[in-house]
Amino acid sequence: MARNHGKFATTKHTTDCPDLLACVFNLKLKSLMDDLTVHGALGKSIAHVNTIEFQKRGLPNAHILIILRTDDKFSTSEHIDKFVRAEIPSSTENPRLHEIVKKCLIHGPCGIDSPGAPCMEAGQCKKMFPKEFRTETTMNVSGYPLSRRRLDDTAFVRGGEMDNRFVVPYYPYLLLKYNAHINVKVCTSLRAVKYIYKYIYKGSDCANMVLTAGQVQYNEIANYIDARYVTAPEAMWQLLGSHMHGRSHAVLGGCKINTNDARVMVPVKSKRSRCSNIIVR
Ligand SMILES: [Zn+2]
Repeated sequence: MARNHGKFATTKHTTDCPDLLACVFNLKLKSLMDDLTVHGALGKSIAHVNTIEFQKRGLPNAHILIILRTDDKFSTSEHIDKFVRAEIPSSTENPRLHEIVKKCLIHGPCGIDSPGAPCMEAGQCKKMFPKEFRTETTMNVSGYPLSRRRLDDTAFVRGGEMDNRFVVPYYPYLLLKYNAHINVKVCTSLRAVKYIYKYIYKGSDCANMVLTAGQVQYNEIANYIDARYVTAPEAMWQLLGSHMHGRSHAVLGGCKINTNDARVMVPVKSKRSRCSNIIVR
């Protein structure tokens, strides 16, 4: 996941310049997708899908799913540690990375010390922070490996001393290149992949409304138009004609196979086809 954290002027907030925000995010996203899908920043990519989401405060997010070829899949802890970290880097050995992690990749504070944080629900952080300390990365049965988070490192962030339990997993190369919030997650099971596909296609953000009087006439189209929440940066993104989704393969039902233009056929009667059999090129 990538989020734009650039600053355009010292006197303005990023959301005050929706046109610049949309343009800069688009340029960074294109470059990031090139790194991931063309230049193989995490390994040789054989398929990908991405979608853009705008938060209520206006900043854009990109959710990107990369499927790596078999030889490059993350199957060991050592392989994961080469790319993904969840620890605060040394301020003396790598000061720039240290500052970026402090600015963009520290969650919270939340939990017992900050029960009023927006991520808290019923006394627990919805994102499951703080994580546990861990001396080494371990592969996990639920499909998400548990990152190494040693006791050593701390940093002063948002008025408090934060440790490795609050670090959002990242890839140092991408952070140093883009200076942005880029969370990298490794998924090793089909269950996790299914969850991420659902997340990617969850739809537009909406505003909550309460009807207190009158007869309710349910109209799905009218409800969609009335309730959809559009910020200025998203409006500018749409006006510039930028895409909300991207994909390497189109999965179509009942069409002919054409491997040259990345269309993939799903036999109409074969609803039990496995994903691993569907995405082929
Ligand atoms: Zn939290």
